Amino acid sequence: MTKLSAATLPRITTAALPAYDRASLTAGIVHFGVGNFHRAHQAVYLDDLFALGSSHDWALVGAGVRDADEAMRQKLKSQDWLTTVVEQEADSSSARITGAMIDYIKPGDSAAVIARLADPAIRIVSLTITEGGYYIDPASQKFDPNHPDIAFDAASMAEPRTAFGLILAGLIRRRNAGIQPFTVMSCDNIPGNGHVTQNAVVGLAKLVDPALAQWVRDNVAFPNGMVDRITPATSPREVALLSDNFGIDDNWPVFCESFKQWVLEDNFPAGRPALERVGVQFVSDVAPYEHMKIRILNGGHATIAYPAGLLDIHFVHEAMEHPLIAAFLAKVENDEIIPVVPPVPDTDLHDYFALCQRRFANPKIGDTVRRLALDGSNRQPKFIVPSAVDRVAAGQSVIGLALVSALWCRYCYGTSDSGAVIEPNDPSWNRLTRQARLAKDDPKAWLAMTDIYGDLGRSQSFVAAFGHALTTLWSVGTKATLERYLADRL
Ligand code: NAD
Repeated sequence: MTKLSAATLPRITTAALPAYDRASLTAGIVHFGVGNFHRAHQAVYLDDLFALGSSHDWALVGAGVRDADEAMRQKLKSQDWLTTVVEQEADSSSARITGAMIDYIKPGDSAAVIARLADPAIRIVSLTITEGGYYIDPASQKFDPNHPDIAFDAASMAEPRTAFGLILAGLIRRRNAGIQPFTVMSCDNIPGNGHVTQNAVVGLAKLVDPALAQWVRDNVAFPNGMVDRITPATSPREVALLSDNFGIDDNWPVFCESFKQWVLEDNFPAGRPALERVGVQFVSDVAPYEHMKIRILNGGHATIAYPAGLLDIHFVHEAMEHPLIAAFLAKVENDEIIPVVPPVPDTDLHDYFALCQRRFANPKIGDTVRRLALDGSNRQPKFIVPSAVDRVAAGQSVIGLALVSALWCRYCYGTSDSGAVIEPNDPSWNRLTRQARLAKDDPKAWLAMTDIYGDLGRSQSFVAAFGHALTTLWSVGTKATLERYLADRL
């Protein structure tokens, strides 16, 4: 067993090692939200690029704004910022150690973060702070300038606490020193993630000084991007699998699928790493790719999560082995989701969906149903509701998507079909549970959450289909409801 660190790397024979001299790396990117996805995606692309002998001035410096980030930072620090990434296919798995991160600023040390952000060597600030981290007002789906965290930062630009406050403070410092602004690159799963990030930074700047807001608008680039790689959370299971199968003792390894995709708008005025050399697609408009991914892949995850949760299924691949859930996914996608996804250059949407099915079914990933079911209040409005809105507007049937919503509502009641308790799994869990209880007798109560459903809750066809689906779920259970839907009898 080898404890991972820079000093022990030469002893590791079971994993690919960074194929470059880490001492040659210099910082070019500050990344907020060093979680599993970042370490399985952006950090891997950079590791590949550095191995080509290219872009060594684009190494990563981690940053975080949450207390929990400090524990993660300590784990990485003790292994010299190295991460083991295990890429898993149904019949094979391989490990690699990535070395693209060279430092991680202590969370809470805003002076250190701002100083680093003001360093001209930093030309990109990237983010994976989750869908919920962008201060979107649920009612308007716009940036919420009244959020207490944002109000705090607007009044304390010397010591901001949010990622956006720190980014803005860094930009102010650069503007005052005549240093070109860095590019801000969101890698979160949000449609128009560049626009959303721009709205957050500009929205905060407006509270500080309208002229500053205009300067940010005019001078800072926020490229949109579509990111993809299924990356489950790390549990003791993964730590043990790594030591059992590869003899590596890593405090916080990442397990993921071998597939990965990154489509980016080429809008980096301060320069960027040559990521096209390692498979990143640079395009003029990311929107079609985002639509495809968010609606077909993320929408697909949101479709299987709740029936699987209600049937007490633990892993995602087990959900895909369940004939009713697999058929439910295929029918909702083929009948209702794919037909309203706009065309994507050089891509057949049905082939893309078939690839998603294979990826979901990969038994090695260990992705959990509970992770997919997490945070529906932020995910359903992005992954499911827009497809239903488009269909209603076109006068098309929404029976399948209404059933997806009803399954989510039934899940939020807090018990599975077997009566097992479902532990809180959403930042708004109490509210969702309250509405789900009311909805048992009055389905409209669920759709009254206009921050989630918007006008869809007023569409007669959606309301009727949702009400019927929920009533059926309560009277005959999940399995029989899915059977009826699949037989076109719902
Ligand atoms: P994770 O839990 O491993 O890491 C999340 C990181 O975000 C942590 O560093 C956490 O401290 C930080 N964070 C959470 N809420 C925050 C907030 N309100 N403000 C600032 N920082 C916050 O999760 P992950 O698997 O790395 O996923 C993160 C995001 O990456 C997802 O929400 C999604 O947008 C994107 N993504 C994930 C996957 C995947 O399969 N995991 C795939 C594509 C995209």
